[in-house]
Amino acid sequence: MTDKFDVIVIGGGPAGYHAAIRAAQLGLKTAVIDAFVGKDGKAALGGTCLNVGCIPSKALLDSSKQFYNIAHNLPVHGITVENAKVDLGTFIGRKDKIVKQFTGGVAQLFKANKIVSYFGKGKLLKGNNVEITGNDGAKQTISATNVVLASGSVPIELPFARFDNKYIIDNAGALDITEVPKRMGVIGAGVIGLELGSVWRRLGAEVTVIEALPDFLGVADADIAKVALKEFGKLGLDIKLGAKLSRAEVKGSEVHLTYNDKDSDHDLVVDKLLVAVGRRAYTDGLLADDVGVKIDDRGRIEVDEHCHTGVDGVWAVGDAVRGPMLAHKGFEEGMAVAEWIAGKSGHVNYDSIPWVIYTEPEIAWAGKTEKQLKDEGIPYRSGSFPFAAIGRAVAMNEAIGQVKMLAHAETDRILGVHMVGPGVSELIAECVVAMEFKGSSEDLARIVHAHPTLSEAVHEAALAVDKRAIHKGN
Ligand code: FAD
Ligand code: NAD
Repeated sequence: MTDKFDVIVIGGGPAGYHAAIRAAQLGLKTAVIDAFVGKDGKAALGGTCLNVGCIPSKALLDSSKQFYNIAHNLPVHGITVENAKVDLGTFIGRKDKIVKQFTGGVAQLFKANKIVSYFGKGKLLKGNNVEITGNDGAKQTISATNVVLASGSVPIELPFARFDNKYIIDNAGALDITEVPKRMGVIGAGVIGLELGSVWRRLGAEVTVIEALPDFLGVADADIAKVALKEFGKLGLDIKLGAKLSRAEVKGSEVHLTYNDKDSDHDLVVDKLLVAVGRRAYTDGLLADDVGVKIDDRGRIEVDEHCHTGVDGVWAVGDAVRGPMLAHKGFEEGMAVAEWIAGKSGHVNYDSIPWVIYTEPEIAWAGKTEKQLKDEGIPYRSGSFPFAAIGRAVAMNEAIGQVKMLAHAETDRILGVHMVGPGVSELIAECVVAMEFKGSSEDLARIVHAHPTLSEAVHEAALAVDKRAIHKGN
């Protein structure tokens, strides 16, 4: 007899584990099938985010920032440290410990919520049956009234620069380098390229970033991207825009590259090549041919606004479906689907999902960019405020960047907030709350912000929308 559940979740990443925990909280008998195997060869819950994404990358970003600051920030404070060294074993080991803590934490949460875990690959069959091929090769079939597909995403591979994860590496490889490369190439000046390129640059690698598009960080507001590009230049990231890779050949322990820009072909030799040109929804082997779940032209599982696939009792969430590939977007979809399954009202507001890039300076935004407002013909007013005029930022010696707020010209409703500078990963939350409550720039302008804090940049930007910022000319 097959085991029968109320909910089976395929994929134990952020989207899947949130769906499972919420379903269990709502009294539904829940199982999760996950195929991820950690670097110790053991099954590990938490998906890309906890194992080879959000958490390990932030651990290395923080460690490398500490090291970089010794030479580049502490002397300003009158502190000098001679002969600072990085022990990469400890550096990577700390990251591995954090990963274990969090992946183990998900397993504990599953236990506490009486969620049944299966470790292996799940395949949805007709009639909401799911075939599991265990990590040990054994097969079994389980079934449920509802199945949530949360199979996530994998890195896109370039046909002429295949991952060997020794010299040509993906995100997982870039989190496990055992010796600081002298020369590192990064293909793609996107989120992963900038974050992981920064890690290795801060430890001393010469990092060249090759980006196909002529504009830097086109997803961000242009004013913010401009500041960021300048700061990354100061860090020493050599960013080549409008440059396309045409060859990557491993020769001995080097990777020989050719890229072309509008002027000519260029050759470059590096010790490691990180390819970070985006990710694709991962649905390989997930669906039997006759289940009826549709895949769109970008390889994603097709869903409606309620994350329903159109097949009775089959839902899909996270990176495997449309929308930004962000862990917190997956969290919300996972929880919402569990609520919908339980007959309650789930909710995801796709218009106010924050984006954060954890570089130095950090970049964060929510809502529309100025270009989007112009393209859509929406009348707006804009207010910005530089961290150079924020006492706390100056005291920290991190007075770089700005906050820019965009509000509707007639209603004053906040339409977008864009930031580059210290601590903006946290500052954006206030703006998301204001946007969720359909707040205006006047609302934020009238709220008391503690002095001296970085949050005063948000307050002043809100005042600047109405041309009444105090600490700058309007
Ligand atoms: P995943 O996390 O990809 O999880 C899917 C899981 O399903 C995996 O464990 C996979 O093995 C398993 N699986 C797939 N198919 C099957 C199957 N058939 N049977 C069983 N199991 C299966 N996002 C942020 O919001 N903030 C960040 O700071 C951030 N940093 C990132 C840094 C890096 C380097 C990377 C690569 C990504 C980062 N992301 C970040 C993105 C984030 O990791 C993803 O958006 C998130 O992990 C998506 O969650 P998910 O549950 O949809 O999929
Ligand atoms: P990305 O989409 O952020 O950036 C990819 C970049 O590569 C783009 O700028 C693109 O123009 C460029 N590119 C594409 N093909 C190219 C080519 N052939 N040559 C040169 N450049 C090329 O993708 P990513 O950096 O791989 O990250 C994938 C996703 O993971 C992100 O979009 C994001 O959703 C998620 N992520 C989020 C965070 C975060 O929230 N802080 C961190 C890392 C990853």
